[in-house]
Amino acid sequence: MSNENQTPIVPCPQCGKRLYWTSDNPWRPFCSKRCKMIDLGAWADESHRIAGEPAMDDASLDELMNRIERGD
Ligand SMILES: [Zn+2]
Repeated sequence: MSNENQTPIVPCPQCGKRLYWTSDNPWRPFCSKRCKMIDLGAWADESHRIAGEPAMDDASLDELMNRIERGD
């Protein structure tokens, strides 16, 4: 059995390009830094939107309710 010596080939999740899954590849499971950054960027952008807006909305909603109650 010499299967352990065979390097697995996996498709890049970003572009679908096949790459060797080795510890030499710092970008795995992506084929390149570019694909990894695209994926990270998309994720960070999305979580930033989700994490940032509700907090601000809550604060401004509270302020708005206070103003309405005071008849400001
Ligand atoms: Zn890729």
